Amino acid sequence: MKKYNFNAGPSMLPREVIEATAAACLDFEGCGLSLMEISHRAKNFQPVVDKAEALVKELLDVPFGYSVVFLAGGASTEFCRVPYNFLEKKAAYLNTGTWAKKAMKEAKLFGEVVEVASSAEANYSYIPKNFEIPADADYLHITTNNTIFGTEIRRELDSPVPMIADMSSDIMSRPVDVSKYNCIYAGAQKNVSMAGVTIVIVKDDALGKVSRPIPTMLDYMTHVKNGSMFNTPPVVPIYCAMKNLEWVKANGGVEEMDRRARKRAEILYGEIERNKLFKGTAAEEDRSVMNICFVMTDEYKELEADFLQYATDKGMVGIKGHRSVGGFRASCYNAQTIEGVEALVQCMKEFEAQH
Ligand SMILES: *Cc1c(COP(=O)(O)O)cnc(C)c1O
Repeated sequence: MKKYNFNAGPSMLPREVIEATAAACLDFEGCGLSLMEISHRAKNFQPVVDKAEALVKELLDVPFGYSVVFLAGGASTEFCRVPYNFLEKKAAYLNTGTWAKKAMKEAKLFGEVVEVASSAEANYSYIPKNFEIPADADYLHITTNNTIFGTEIRRELDSPVPMIADMSSDIMSRPVDVSKYNCIYAGAQKNVSMAGVTIVIVKDDALGKVSRPIPTMLDYMTHVKNGSMFNTPPVVPIYCAMKNLEWVKANGGVEEMDRRARKRAEILYGEIERNKLFKGTAAEEDRSVMNICFVMTDEYKELEADFLQYATDKGMVGIKGHRSVGGFRASCYNAQTIEGVEALVQCMKEFEAQH
C-alpha cells in the first residue's frame, strides 16, 4: 500500500533526494568509496559544502555580509549558542510555544530575558500581536513556525531591534527578508534534509560584540571563519541538504514552495471546516501552512482513536497530534504532495460518511 508521510520531523523528503543520498552512501560520485568513508577535507567533498552554502544564499536571497554555516547539535544547541553570541545585557523573546520556551530557558543563563508576549494561556493557539519590544534589547527572538501548536508568523515582523529566528519548520517554504535578522537557524530535519545538520545564517557584523569569552565550538565566528570545516561536519546530512536545495531550485524556488504550501493548506483546512467531525485548533489568521492541527468536535470526540486507526489503515503516517494539543497533526513540508493531502481528505470524507 502507498504510504503518505505526514511526520512532523524527521519528515518527508522528495524521493529523488533520498535516492541520490543513498547512492552517494554506496559510491560517492564514482570515486569507489562511500560518502561515509571519505575525508570531509577531500577535494571532492568541498564542492558539496560550497554548493549547499551557495544554494541557501541564492534561494533565500541572502544579502552581502551574511554567512551560512552547517553545524551539528540540532536547533536545540542554537537555543544556547544564540544568547552566548548575541546577548550582552537583555534580549526579548516572543513566547509562542514549546520551542520558544526552551529557547528562553537557555537565554536566561546569559542575561535578562524579557518575554514580550505569550499565548500560553490559550495553549499557544494564536500568535500574540501589538506587543512592545524594548528598544534597548540586543535582539528579538521569534519562532516563525510553531511545529507543535500549528501556528505561524508567515510575514516579517516590524521590530526596532534586529531579529533572531528559529525557522526549523518553515525555512525554505517561503521568501524571507534576511536583512531583518542577525541570525536565522533551522534544524534541517523538518524541511531541508535528514537529521544531523542545522543551517545557520548569521550577519557577520553582529558577531564579536559580546564581552564574555565564548568556547570555541559555541562561537559562530569559529565556524564562519572555517567555512563549516573547523571540525568534522555531518557530511551525509549536508549532502542530502544540498540535493534537496537543488530540488527546491529546480521546482521553482521558495516562491513556488510558498504557493504549493498555501494550496495544500487551503485544501486541508477547507475540509476540516466543511467536515462535521473535525475542527482546527489554531486561530484562523495565525494557522500554519506547514503543520496543520485539528481535533474531533466535542460531539464526536470519542471517535478520535477510531479515525486514527482508519487513516493509518489507508496509508496515512504520522498524523497523530502532539500530546500537548491532542487530535491530529498533518505536517505538510515542501515534499508533501497535493495527492497526499487529497488522500487524507478522502479518509476524512469516508469516515464522516460512516458516522
Ligand atoms: C524540531 C524543532 C526544534 C528542535 O530541533 P532539534 O534539531 O531536534 O534540536 C526546535 N525548534 C523548532 C521550531 C522545531 O520544530
